[in-house]
Amino acid sequence: ALGFDVRNRKARRMTASARHGLDLVHQFSDLQAHRNGETTTIVRGEGVHVFDAEGNRYIDAMSGSSCASLGFRDERLVQAMTEQAGKLPYYHLFAQKSHEPAERLARQLSAMAPEHLNHVLFANSGSESNDAAIRIVRAVNISRGKPEKRRVIARHAGYHGSTTLSASVTGQAHMRFGSDSVSPDVSFIPEVCHYRHGHDGESEEAYAARCAAELEAAILAVGPDTVAAFIAEPVMASAGCLLPPKGYFQLVDEVLRRHDVALIADEVVCALGRLDSPFGSTRYGLRPDLMTLAKPLTGGYFPLSAVLMTDEIYDTLTLESAKSGLLGHGLTYGGHPIGCAVASAALEIYAQADFRANLHATIATFERHLAAIADCPIVGETRNAGLLGALEIVADKTTRRRFDAMENVTLKIGRALQKNGVITRWTRETVNLCPPLVISEDELEVLFGALRASLDQVAAEVAHEVEE
Ligand code: PMP
Repeated sequence: ALGFDVRNRKARRMTASARHGLDLVHQFSDLQAHRNGETTTIVRGEGVHVFDAEGNRYIDAMSGSSCASLGFRDERLVQAMTEQAGKLPYYHLFAQKSHEPAERLARQLSAMAPEHLNHVLFANSGSESNDAAIRIVRAVNISRGKPEKRRVIARHAGYHGSTTLSASVTGQAHMRFGSDSVSPDVSFIPEVCHYRHGHDGESEEAYAARCAAELEAAILAVGPDTVAAFIAEPVMASAGCLLPPKGYFQLVDEVLRRHDVALIADEVVCALGRLDSPFGSTRYGLRPDLMTLAKPLTGGYFPLSAVLMTDEIYDTLTLESAKSGLLGHGLTYGGHPIGCAVASAALEIYAQADFRANLHATIATFERHLAAIADCPIVGETRNAGLLGALEIVADKTTRRRFDAMENVTLKIGRALQKNGVITRWTRETVNLCPPLVISEDELEVLFGALRASLDQVAAEVAHEVEE
């Protein structure tokens, strides 16, 4: 009888839960909103469009989660996955085993990477690749006889992942779920954004020098002997396309070399064409010791990430693993053959001359639309690097005053946009844009038409706060 009761209770609970779609715990999502029935179930994708269960079609102006650079059903990628699944659907890279898809992809990546980065370690996600990069820097310092040199410096508003270590260097407190305080091995410095933090009349170069001085002060405050790495996105993507001020990374490089601190470039979003260059590092002149890649690597079709490293780091890892018998790091699915096969196909597409020429033209159109939309009364600034962009939303364009947080203005814009057929993401201060690299001129026209309509709609709603 007891068993029957339990089954009955469970059956009743399951019916209710299925009705509300509560079996599934969503991620980076408002769980209460799901309980209230505000769930958009995506059933199909085609080019830059996705379709929901009700048959509505949307332009996905975020490429899913900044990964579907080639859109949502590229047959070449689907074929690469299918072929690999039919040949060797799984193998690992442990215990002196290897497979051809991982070897080929590593060769492709090191051939296209900056000259000093020639070795690739695979993982499944951006978070894991950043974890691995931090572990590697620490392991190298232990090998150099400097075990206390393990601290990481990161920036406020930066996003590096959702595993314990990558979350601990994420500068958005509300995303450090389950760990209220900052890790003792991490220091934060302010994010870089000339629009927000530049002083009146301060040039970008002067602001960059001030930011680099802040980094150096943070290193000196804890002692250079304790600092292993500085982790930074070339352009801070999820924070709302925060661009490095002119000359910033050159000055940062000097500071890091002076104090023997490694640079980890988190290129999880920036790499592979998004910024109109192979890597954010090539565009902005960074010389990272380690570089992490993920999202566009497989166009989002399979979880795969990579850590690129220098010869020196690779040699140290080799030496250490010879001593202990193995490299003390490994993931069952790190370098999965299906992921590697689809990534190889994606890299071949990104490298095609006509693909790059089209992208270049698309970016010019994107920039024209961004410039035009900057005249909206609640848009303080538009920013972009290639096809990564954002609108900074303000209540007063002259003083750059923000809206009262309670107004949830960017959430309102996001919701209006979705009603108008465009999916995007936002922060409290920005509306973010990261469309597939294959978006056409006509689709950009539609996207920006919907964006203008939504901005006008919300501006009218909050007119009492807006200073014209
Ligand atoms: N780094 C950056 C810059 C990111 O934007 C993200 C994901 N938004 C990550 C790391 C983490 O990647 P993942 O979600 O694949 O773990």
